[in-house]
Amino acid sequence: MLDVLVVGSGVAGLSAAVHAAGRGASVALVTKGGLGHGATRYAQGGVAAALETEGDSPELHLSDTLAAGAGLCDPDAVRVLVTEGPQRVRALIDLGAEFDRTRDGEAASLALAREGGHSVARVVHAGGDATGAEIERALVAAVQATACEIHEAQFTFDLLVESGVCAGVRTVDPTGTAREIRARQVLLASGGAGQMFSVTTNPPESTGDGTAMARRAGVAVADVEFMQFHPTALHTESMPRPLLSEALRGEGAVLRDEAGVAFMADEHPLADLAPRDIVARAIAMRLRDRNLDHLWLDATGIAEFPVRFPTIFAAVQAVGLDPTRDWLPVAPAAHYLSGGVCTDLDGATTIPGLWACGEVACSGVHGANRLASNSLLDGLVFAHRAIDAIIDGKHGSDATGVLRGIDPIEAHAPHPAGASAGPATTRAEVQAVMTRDAGVLRDAATLADAAARLAELAPGASDPEVRNLVEVGSALIAAAAARHESRGTHTRLDYPGRSAAFLGRYVFTRAGAPAFVPLPTAAEARRS
Ligand SMILES: Cc1cc2nc3c(=O)[nH]c(=O)nc-3n(C[C@H](O)[C@H](O)[C@H](O)COP(=O)(O)OP(=O)(O)OC[C@H]3O[C@@H](n4cnc5c(N)ncnc54)[C@H](O)[C@@H]3O)c2cc1C
Repeated sequence: MLDVLVVGSGVAGLSAAVHAAGRGASVALVTKGGLGHGATRYAQGGVAAALETEGDSPELHLSDTLAAGAGLCDPDAVRVLVTEGPQRVRALIDLGAEFDRTRDGEAASLALAREGGHSVARVVHAGGDATGAEIERALVAAVQATACEIHEAQFTFDLLVESGVCAGVRTVDPTGTAREIRARQVLLASGGAGQMFSVTTNPPESTGDGTAMARRAGVAVADVEFMQFHPTALHTESMPRPLLSEALRGEGAVLRDEAGVAFMADEHPLADLAPRDIVARAIAMRLRDRNLDHLWLDATGIAEFPVRFPTIFAAVQAVGLDPTRDWLPVAPAAHYLSGGVCTDLDGATTIPGLWACGEVACSGVHGANRLASNSLLDGLVFAHRAIDAIIDGKHGSDATGVLRGIDPIEAHAPHPAGASAGPATTRAEVQAVMTRDAGVLRDAATLADAAARLAELAPGASDPEVRNLVEVGSALIAAAAARHESRGTHTRLDYPGRSAAFLGRYVFTRAGAPAFVPLPTAAEARRS
């Protein structure tokens, strides 16, 4: 039997497979599209890490991450991220990833960019703004050089849970042939769920499959109300929406309203470099109040735009704009799901045999709002830790990280898909509901409408990806309806302030409403 089965081939899954093979485990990787298809290759800005640069430190990266996370980060998980992150970036370079270097002849120094929420420049990038593509290229080459079995075009549709333990997965190929793949340990690295929304930067693969599978099996899932909307997606017809990276604002680009007024200085001391949630909300409020569908990003002051941001330059040119002369139309787009499958500090979930890392996981590093360029790092760091823990013989989870306060639960075989009834529900129908009623700005009435409409659409969700979108969307709506406050990426128009009563997570373990699990007090945290 396989030692490890990895589901997904983005930064998290590939890193895990390469490391597992390197440590001598028998490992297989299943992925629903081609190797390399997923969100990772679209990443632009880069990877944040405190790489012994003057003026930076893991402590400073920690405090920036905690500030962005709006009170819900798990500090232990963030400490792991920021202290182990630099080693993982160096290991990626050793594996062959080529990051941009400064052009002053110092071949050894990596070029560092600054992005929203970071107090210093600490973001390494590749090909200017093609960081994800370079990471994916390096990791795909690395995994192909190992003994890892690779199964492309295998859609994983459920976990195999036997006697409360994950024993493998069920997959189906494009011919409709289903099979079971058994393994001692299963690592979910299946990415995010931006496809819940009609306006998203995420590719078609990001349908929340891992989170939905975990939920159907009773594995704890949390923080799904925290869908991060990127403030500056290019406002065009194409989908996924081309992203105008935060690194543009790091290089001096400025947001302007319909009258040309630069407004972010009135919203936050960091102005255009405020954390993403603040910027997205500021834009969404103006769009709503002024009945607009976009505002503007003025990047005309950036020197050498085509050289520094070649991918963005090409995307903008493709719609007939020249960023060195024209302001660029922007609006928020669903970008990153901070929540997902709850894990301890090693990626273990609430059932033995099941692990999660990367965007599908809720490890606590992102809290209520992910800090820019922390997610590639999250995938690198926690994939490595999960594999080390697996190979070192860890069984089950610890009460660390997000799992502190969440009791291990008896998992069960996944709920079977109900017989579909009525006309087939389409992805676009689910996206329209979520976008209209559960997007950047929400209130009790819109969330109630969204819940009712998704309940009507659920019986027709015969397509497994649409079913997963309904599953995760329903969880998002339920948690968002229960959270009577605005925090991080969750904005309730009827509860505009933050409330200490909601310092905790909404955790789903069984069908139905989520349970509120308060964060541990400082004394409890010290004891555990
Ligand atoms: C446009 C864009 C720009 C971004 N820029 C940055 C950035 O600059 N810095 C940063 O840190 N982050 C950035 N992000 C976020 C970051 O790219 C992602 O969070 C990260 O790549 C997720 O990696 P992952 O391995 O968890 O998931 P993914 O890369 O999405 O990979 C998931 C994999 O799982 C597979 N899969 C999914 N479901 C199944 C299933 N049912 N069965 C089998 N296989 C399945 C998919 O096909 C895919 O291979 C950006 C995201 C986008 C969309």
